[in-house]
Amino acid sequence: MSQTLQNTALTTDVHRALRACGVDVDGLTGELEARSPLTGEVLAGLPLASAADVGAAVGRAVEAFPAWRDVPAPVRGNVVKRWGELLTEHKEDLAVLVQAEAGKITSEALGEVQEMIDICDFAVGQSRMLYGRTMPSERPGHRLMETWHPLGVVGVVSAFNFPVAVYSWNTALALVCGDTVVWKPSETVALSAMGSHALLARAVRDCGAPAEIHQLVLADREGGQSLVDDPRVALVSATGSVRMGREVAPRVAARFGRCLLELGGNNAAIVAPSADLDLALRGIVFSAVGTAGQRCTTLRRLIVHESVVDVLTEKLVQAYGTLSIGDPRETSNLVGPLIDERSHDAMQQALRAAQEQGGTVLAGGERVLAEERPEAFYVRPAVVRMPAQTEVVQEETFAPILYVLTYSELAEAIELQNGVPQGLSSAIFTNDQLEAERFLSSAGSDCGIANVNIGTSGAEIGGAFGGEKETGGGRESGSDSWKAYMRQATNTVNYSGELPLAQGVTFI
Ligand code: NAD
Repeated sequence: MSQTLQNTALTTDVHRALRACGVDVDGLTGELEARSPLTGEVLAGLPLASAADVGAAVGRAVEAFPAWRDVPAPVRGNVVKRWGELLTEHKEDLAVLVQAEAGKITSEALGEVQEMIDICDFAVGQSRMLYGRTMPSERPGHRLMETWHPLGVVGVVSAFNFPVAVYSWNTALALVCGDTVVWKPSETVALSAMGSHALLARAVRDCGAPAEIHQLVLADREGGQSLVDDPRVALVSATGSVRMGREVAPRVAARFGRCLLELGGNNAAIVAPSADLDLALRGIVFSAVGTAGQRCTTLRRLIVHESVVDVLTEKLVQAYGTLSIGDPRETSNLVGPLIDERSHDAMQQALRAAQEQGGTVLAGGERVLAEERPEAFYVRPAVVRMPAQTEVVQEETFAPILYVLTYSELAEAIELQNGVPQGLSSAIFTNDQLEAERFLSSAGSDCGIANVNIGTSGAEIGGAFGGEKETGGGRESGSDSWKAYMRQATNTVNYSGELPLAQGVTFI
C-alpha cells in the first residue's frame, strides 16, 4: 500500500482497489452515496436494498443452507482458508477501501485486514474442533453426549468503525459452523463491504461451494430492521451503538430468535502509583487516540492515583501536543478524520457539557484543517480533567475525548471503573501484583475485557471479544465463541437392551 497517496485522486484509487477485489465498478450507480471522511468527496453511488431485496437475500441463504449444512465441517473450512488466502493477496486493496471510508491511518487499515486473515486461520482450525462432550450416564449401558449442529441463516449487522473485521469474525466462524450468512454492513462503509464480499464470492467459486451461502445487502436502518425481523434468520449478530441494540434486541426476542450483541463501550484504565508511567503513557495514547477515538474499545476514562496524576497529565498533554492530525494516507499522521459532521458536533457538545459539569479542557478538542477540507472533520484529540464521574463521562461519545479522574484507594478506582452503564474493556497499569489480581478478580473489573499493563484497545482474535451490561453480553471471535453459531443437542444412546429410567423412576 502506497504510504503517500495524498496527491493521487482518492476516487481513482478506490475504484482501482474495488476492481482488484473483483467488483464491477463500471456498473455502479444508485441513491446511496459512498462518501469519504478524508475529503468529503463522493466515491460512488450505490443501489440501496429495499425490504423486498433483503427478504429475497434471506430466501437465497435459506435455500443454500441444507446443502452447506451437509458439507463436512473441515471441507467447509476450505472456503474460509481460500478467503484468507485472497485477503492476504488483496490486503492492500481492501485496506485502501477501509482507509477511504473509515478514515483509518495506513497501519490500522492494514491491521484491520490482518485481523480478517487471522480469524480465517482461526476458523479453519476450528472447523476440525467443533467438539461435543461425552458425560457418564447414571444408567448402565447408556451413553450421554452432546453434539453441535448448524443454526441456519445468520444475519450480521455491522458498524462503520470496523467496516470488515468484525463482520469477518462472524462470517468465518458461521461458515465453518455450517450456517449461511446475510450481511448488512453500515451504509457508511459500503465499498469496503463490496470488496470483502467479492473476495469471499471468489473463494466460494474456487472451492465449488454453493454460491448463495453468503449474501450482502446494502441497506439502511429500515433494511436492517427487515433482516432483524425475518423469522427465517436464526441468529442476529449486531454490532453498533447501544441505541441500535435497544431497538434490535426486543424485536429478535419477540420472535424467539437468537441475538448476539456487541454494543458501545465506555472503557477505563486505572493508573496506580507503582505503574511504569512511560509504558502507561504509550498504552494510554494509543488506546485513546487510535482510530481518532472511534473504536468500541477506545480509552475514554483515565482513573489516576492522586499521587501521580499531575506528572501523568503533564506527560499526556505533552504527548497530545506532538500528535500529527491530517490525511491518514500520509504516514506521518497518527490521527485521521471523524466519520462525519454529526460526530464532530457530538464531540463539541460533549466538551461543552464536560465544562458545564466542572471539567477543565487540558488539551485539544478543536477542529483543524477546516479551510483545506471544509467537508471533512479532523479534530485535535482532547484531554479533560473532571472533578467527578458526571453524566457526560458516563456516556460513550464516539470521538477522541479522554476524561481524567483521580482516586486514593484501589477500591474507589474499581468502583469508578465499574460505575458506568457499559462494560466492554478495562485496564490497570500497576507493578503491584496484588493490585493486578484484585482488578482481575470477581470483585474487580466488571468488563468483558480486563487487561494489565496494556491499554483497552487492540484485542487479538484468539480471545473471546465482547462486553457486559449495556455492551450487550455477546462474545465473538476467539475462544469458544463458535458455540453462538450452532445449536446444541444432548443425545442419550441406550445399548443395554433394558429400559431403565433416570432418577430411578419406575413406570411400566
Ligand atoms: P450504529 O448503531 O449507528 O449502526 C450500526 C449498524 O446498525 C449499522 O449497520 C446500522 O445501519 C444498523 N442499524 C441501526 N439501527 C438499526 C435497527 N433499528 N435495526 C437494524 N439495524 C440497525 O453504530 P455506528 O455509528 O455504525 O458504530 C459505532 C457504534 O458501534 C459505537 O457505539 C461503538 O462502540 C459500537 N461498536 C461496538 C463494537 C463491539 O464489538 N462492542 C464494535 C464496533 C463498534
